[in-house]
Parts: sequence; structure tokens; C-alpha cells
Amino acid sequence: MKNEKLKQPSAAIVSSIAFLVIALFGGYWTVSTSDSIIKQQQSILNDLSRTQASVLERRLSAVLTSARFLSYEVEHRNNDKWFHEYASKLIKSISDVESLQLAPDGIITHVYPFDSNKKALGFNILSDSQYREEVLSAIKEHKLIAVGPVKLLQGNEAIIARAPVFLNSGTQKELFWGFASAFIYLDSLIESTQLKELELQGYQYRLSKIKDNKVIVLSSSDVPLTDIKATTELILPVGTWTLEISKTLGSRLTHRQLIGYGISLIVAFLLSIALYAILIQPQKLRMLVTEKTIELQELAYLDPLTGLPNRRYLQDKLPDALRKNKKNKRLSAFIYFDLDNFKRINDTIGHDIGDKVLVLVADKLNVLKGPSDMVVRLGGDEFGILLDDIHHLENVSEYAEKILKSIQTPFKISTQDFILSTSLGIAMIPEHGDDLVTIMQNADMALYQAKQQGKNQFAFYTEEMKINTYELIKAEADLTKALKNNEFELYYQPQFDLHSNQIFGAEALIRWNHPEKGLVFPNHFIPLAENTGKIIELGHWIVESGIAYLGQRGKQGMSPIMLHINLSSKQLSDPNFVSFVKKLLLQYDVPATLLGFEITETSILEDIELAKKVLKTFQNMGICIAIDDFGTGYSSLAQLKNLPVSLLKIDRSFVMDLAHDEDDRKIIEAIIAMAHKLNIKVLAEGVETREQWMMLESFNCDFGQGYYVSKAVTADEFNQGQPIFHQDT
Ligand SMILES: [Mg+2]
Repeated sequence: MKNEKLKQPSAAIVSSIAFLVIALFGGYWTVSTSDSIIKQQQSILNDLSRTQASVLERRLSAVLTSARFLSYEVEHRNNDKWFHEYASKLIKSISDVESLQLAPDGIITHVYPFDSNKKALGFNILSDSQYREEVLSAIKEHKLIAVGPVKLLQGNEAIIARAPVFLNSGTQKELFWGFASAFIYLDSLIESTQLKELELQGYQYRLSKIKDNKVIVLSSSDVPLTDIKATTELILPVGTWTLEISKTLGSRLTHRQLIGYGISLIVAFLLSIALYAILIQPQKLRMLVTEKTIELQELAYLDPLTGLPNRRYLQDKLPDALRKNKKNKRLSAFIYFDLDNFKRINDTIGHDIGDKVLVLVADKLNVLKGPSDMVVRLGGDEFGILLDDIHHLENVSEYAEKILKSIQTPFKISTQDFILSTSLGIAMIPEHGDDLVTIMQNADMALYQAKQQGKNQFAFYTEEMKINTYELIKAEADLTKALKNNEFELYYQPQFDLHSNQIFGAEALIRWNHPEKGLVFPNHFIPLAENTGKIIELGHWIVESGIAYLGQRGKQGMSPIMLHINLSSKQLSDPNFVSFVKKLLLQYDVPATLLGFEITETSILEDIELAKKVLKTFQNMGICIAIDDFGTGYSSLAQLKNLPVSLLKIDRSFVMDLAHDEDDRKIIEAIIAMAHKLNIKVLAEGVETREQWMMLESFNCDFGQGYYVSKAVTADEFNQGQPIFHQDT
């Protein structure tokens, strides 16, 4: 997020720079367009100015030429009678000339056209102070001069070309005669150009000359010249004239420039906005992705059912919490706990209720937790609590007691009352580990201990638990290896009918042909198998081997026998167990009626509802269900009527002292009588003497099993089927 925020202004800066660059470019384009318009205008004005100047030059030149022609005529005529006719012809042929005159000795004597110029007659050119100097210089240097514009006596302003006339020119008798002059009126001169039309078209002009350092305007438009103008210098015999022509671009150009600048700004603005939008798009996307990632992460950290943080959260956050604790030298504790027999709720009442129970438990834990404690659901009915900042071990015990008490408080879901209990395992930090794996393992071991000790209690982790664990780990490896190497073997202990003296079946008992220790009895490895979970695999092996043995007997045509196989509680809670048994019976072609399962009271009581369900299924299949070691557990005979049981196996401890212990005798009698009332057969375990046999027979006990007849033997030995031999018969 931090990164994104840093990048936001960079998009703005880039866009602003783009805005400036585009605006500047637009401005430059506007200026250069205006410049080119101005240049274009300038060029048009230059052309116009040059054209008009050349018209002026041509006309003035025509005037000079006319004066020269006239002077030539004077030189070659003897009288002046020709003047009018000649002047008329000359003006007609050189239309640029307005008027002609002759001035012998400087005094004007002849004018044409006469009427409009007669006022000039008698005027002495040489006496005119304004042009005297020039006129004298013309005589002296024999050169044609032009003067003007001059205000004429006739009223007009004109440009006059005066040619000094010399008679007998180039000879000794050369004699100044006078002046031959040609006129053009200034108005007429201007009219011969297009300057007036141009003025109407919006141009301005000014025709001027400089005299005595002063600008004398000869003619100009009504509107003064503007900045954009063209100037042409006319080098004339009358001096240098300047023709300037301009045209107002002013407001048009300004307008155009304003539009140019406006468009540039708009385009720059739009493009920079577009650029900004494009630039921030990936950032927006990135921000969105970050937001969604955080949301997903939060979801990933949350247990959807209880709303508590989950195992992953603990995994990710615990190291940090531990680091802080270590730094501050604080003590903390991790409590690992699960609900006792929670599986039963799920299996018998349903998962919906099970879920509600978990939510309630989560609520209870939330109420108990301190502000810095962390409560997580680890999965299923497992919860974890990290108690932060513990001062004494007693704090943890008190807290654990509170949890036990809180969970034990009865509650109601729908119409159903619940009383739960929980077992807690506690690992102290850092004493029992300072990393997640060790802490969890040790707390789990303590939890296991609490369960082993009878549930509904808490246990602190101790080093001895660790030793046990190492043993378990080793045992598990050994069992795995033994299964793989086929080191297990089933032995068969005959079960016999006390009344008919017939062996009707056997109990399958596992033995371990240990490569180093020799024959190992189940009491040495079954508890380990149960604690490591290996019992499922081992149990499967026993069931399959037993059924396979029955199948083999059938194939070999031997007499059918009942085979009782011991089951562990773990097998009962295995959801695939029933289908596993069905499959084996089918596979080995063994009738279910030949199979019996022996289950201890305690394993049934672990989850009585589930056990009932599974056992009922087996009983319906025709499998005999036997209660093993009856009398050692807590179950009463009354409970038996609710169980699908066909056989009771009275524990050997009752049979052992039968001959001497009155109480045992009474108990056995009672058990037998009661079982028979419930339609359950009875088998006595540990029958070692003929006396015991006979007593049991007299109590109407149905079956027996024990060393009196045979210990557990190999399949081969059992197959030989030794008959029962009584010493007293
Ligand atoms: Mg047994």
C-alpha cells in the first residue's frame, strides 16, 4: 500500500509535465502559425508595395521623358507655333502627363492645356526661391530636374519635370533658351495606382518623402498604418520617396492566437488527464489486488464457523508473539485442548448441532480470554490458546480451571441439553519450547496425558512425556517394519463347549515373531500400536488373516469353526470397517456366522452410541458379538440389554479363584443367570483345571477357554484338532 501511495504523485507529476509540454508545443505552434500568417501578409504587402511603387516610378519617368521630348522640340524649331499641337499629341500619346509648358528665359509663356493652366503664364521660374537653387543647378549642369510636389498657382499639387533647353547645343554658340516642363498632378499620380482601391479593401498606405530631416506625407489612407507593413523606397529624380502599405491583421490575428492558445490548453488538459488515467490504471489495479489479497489473507486467517482465527493464523503470528515475549523476557503458555467425546455429538446428533456446540465453545473461550491472549480454532474440536504475559504457573492453572468449569456449564441447543467436558494440555513458553512445532507437540503430549488420566482435566507438559513419545515413535517404526516383513502370526486358542466337550471355535491371538526378541506377546505391543495409531493397520491385518484362515479351512474341507477376533475401539470408530469386513467375507468365501468379534467393555463405553450402531450391523450380518473380559469394566449387566451382544466372556480373574472364593462364585452364577435371561451365551476365560470346568458346567456356563484344554497354538497345530481329554474319565 505504501508503495502505491508513493507512486500516485508520480503519475500526477508525469501528467503535469505532459500538460506543460503539450501546452508549450501548442503555444509554439500557435505562435509559429501566426508568424507564418504575418510573413505571408508581409509578402503580399511587399508585392503590393513594389507593384504600386513601380507604377509611380513609371508615371514619373513618363513625365521626365515628356519634358525631355518637349525640350528637344524647342531646340529644333524656329518658332513656337507648333506648341499646342505638339503638346496635345504628346499628352495623348503619353497619357501619364497632365500638363506641359514652355518658359523661355524662365518665364512661362506657353501652357497646355491652356484653360486650366493659364494662371501660370508670366510666372518666372528663376525667381521662385523654393526651387531657384535646383533650377540654377539644372542650367549649370545641363541636367533634367524634377521638383515637387509643388503647390501650383493653379491650385493643384504637382510634380514637375524641368528640362533646361539650350540652343546650338554642343557648339560655341550654345545659348540657354529656357525651360521645357512637364507636370503630373499628385492626385492624378495617386489615382493611377491602386492605392485607393486597396484602401477600400482595408489596406493602409502612406507615400512620403524626407526633406530637411522631416517626413513630409504626400498622400495617405484615412486609417493610419499598422505594424505589419511593407516599405518600398522609390529613388526618383525628385528625391527618395517612401511607399508604405499595411493591412490590419490585429484583432483577426489576436482572435486566431487566442483560439490557438485555447485549443492548445484544452488538448493539453485532455491528453494529460487521459495520460493520468492510463498511468494510474495499473496502480489502481495493484491497489485492488493488494486490497483483495488482504481480504483473502484475512479470510484465510479466519475459521468460517466460529469466527476465531485459525491454525494458519497461529502459524503466521505465533513466531512474532514469541519473539516479543523473548525480547521482553516474558513468560507465556500455550493451551491445547479438545472436547471430550465430541465425535459422539457429531455422529449421533448430527453435524449441525456439533457445529453449534463448537460456536458456543468459541464464544465461551472469547469471554475468558484476556486482551493480549490469542484464541484459535485448530480444526475439528481442537482449540488453542496462547496466554500472553504469565507471571506464575498458578495463573495458567487458574485459567485452565476456568475453561474446564466454563465448558462444563450445561447449555441448551434447540431442545437438547448438553454437558460437555474438555481436556487441556499445557506447554509453558519458553520452558517447553520456543518454536511453534515444539510448543504444539509438547502441548499435544500433555493433552494426550490429560485424556489418558481420565479426561475433564488439564496436564502440564513434562519431560517424561517426551521420553514416552520417543518410545512411541520407535515402536511405530518397529511395527511398520514388522508388518512389512510379515513378522506377525495369528495363534488360535481353542474355545470349547463345557457340556458336549467339543471344540467349537477359537480366539485368534496375535504373536510377533521378533527377529531379535523371539516370540512377543500382544500385551507388549498392542498398547503401543493403539497409542501410535498403528492399531488400525494391525487390526486390519488380524481381521484379514483370521478370515483368510477360515477361508482356507473351508477350501480344505475341514470342519467349520467359529473364530473370534479381538477388536480395538479405534477399529469400531473407523467408518470403513464394516465394508472392509464385508469385502473380506466375500473375498475368502466365508459365512459371516463363523466370525465373531470380541470387544472390551471399555472400548464400547468410549462411544457407546457408535459402538451400538456398528455392532448391530455386524450382528445383523450374522457375526457373533462377544464382550471380552466381562466384569473388569464399569458396565453393568443392565447395560447389556441395550447392546447387540450374543456372547459374554467372563474375565479370567473371576475364574481363577473360583474353587476358593465364594464371592467370585456368586458373581459368576449371577452373571450366567442374568445373561441367559437376556439370551446371551457365556464363555469363561482362563479355565485351567478340571475342577473349574465342572463348577462352571454346574453353573450352566456354556463355553470355556483356557490352558486346561490348550494354550494358543499355531494354525497348523490347531488344524490337527486334538480331542479334549479329561484326566478323571
Ligand atoms: Mg479376547
